[in-house]
Amino acid sequence: MARELRCRDVGPDCDAIVVAENDDEALTQVADHARSVHGMTDEEINDPAFLAHVREQIHDRA
Ligand SMILES: [Zn+2]
Repeated sequence: MARELRCRDVGPDCDAIVVAENDDEALTQVADHARSVHGMTDEEINDPAFLAHVREQIHDRA
């Protein structure tokens, strides 16, 4: 089952949806997206609270 994360569920008003094989792959894609689209720094992306928040929003693809 593919895993899915809607950027909007994490916070930003953004229509991007990440689809990945597993949670770690989803996190990698989200990190790239957050860096390139939302201008987040590596420090912000690697913040444990942010990562935990993102993981909570990843769900099975409908
Ligand atoms: Zn986004």
